[in-house]
Amino acid sequence: MSLSGTQARIIDGKAIAAAVRAEVAARVAKLAAQGVVPGLSVVLVGEDPASQVYVRNKDKAAQEAGFNVRTVRLPATTSQAQLLGVVRELNDDRAVHGILVQLPLPRGLDANAVVRALDPAKDVDGLHPENVAALAVGAPKLVPCTPAGCIELLDRSKIALAGKRFVVIGRSQLVGRPLAALALARDATVTICHSKTGDLPAVCRGADILVAAVGKSEMVRADWVAPGATVLDVGINRGADGKLVGDVAFAEVAERAGAITPVPGGVGPMTIAMLLANTLQAAARRAGLEAVV
Ligand code: NDP
Repeated sequence: MSLSGTQARIIDGKAIAAAVRAEVAARVAKLAAQGVVPGLSVVLVGEDPASQVYVRNKDKAAQEAGFNVRTVRLPATTSQAQLLGVVRELNDDRAVHGILVQLPLPRGLDANAVVRALDPAKDVDGLHPENVAALAVGAPKLVPCTPAGCIELLDRSKIALAGKRFVVIGRSQLVGRPLAALALARDATVTICHSKTGDLPAVCRGADILVAAVGKSEMVRADWVAPGATVLDVGINRGADGKLVGDVAFAEVAERAGAITPVPGGVGPMTIAMLLANTLQAAARRAGLEAVV
């Protein structure tokens, strides 16, 4: 427990992500020795600058880990039928084990329909209804990367979930909901908060583990946090000065929390690491070689 004036332990997501990536690379090498090179295909539609950066980073990380990487770049004018055609081709391609369609899609394209068209066994973002249902019934297959990264950060920081009061702010399909399901599967007592939650600070103060996944700069203040609590900050926001800031007021919360993730360098790096882990899992599962890796 952190006493007043002391600083929380910083959970170093960059270092933990590097460890996960190194482990994945070692397992990819083992799988390759069995004749299977995991293939990841990232589909990028349009010119959104942030998406371009994310896709470049995913490509680079996957290549470094020894994956076969194929990025499919399509113009913003791509029709829904053309995009679904690309997804079907990738579904049928034996060399592709993981498919990620970078979201958001340009206006006019239906992301839900595209996700539903994915082969669930290749859905390394864990968004296909079959994977969502598997997680909801407590038998997860492919799990969304950012929430999986949050659990990995806790595990590798030796912060147990069982019996803890776990509060997540945010109920998106991508982060809040799947994270709540993962925490519940790990025997935490889970509360999901959102924009209609009454007295949010009081609910947050009841948390042993508090996760902010909102998208509002420095919304979580020190007096929202119980002394000694663990705080994970999923938010990525651009401050007025252009710098990245999270959903948590880091400096003041670090004086009260027991452990905290910084932004950048906390949850962010874990997302790509877990994408690699998911792709490895998909490849090993299809080859029937899960025991090998
Ligand atoms: P969404 O916009 O989909 O969801 C935001 C959630 O926050 C909603 O459930 C919303 O409630 C809730 N919310 C909004 N305002 C408030 C408020 N004032 N009080 C309480 N709850 C509120 O965002 P995402 O889940 O996709 O992302 C959340 C953040 O995480 C963003 O900053 C995003 O950039 C970042 N992110 C980071 C990733 C990483 O790799 N680190 C990956 C993915 C996202 P309601 O449902 O009622 O509208």
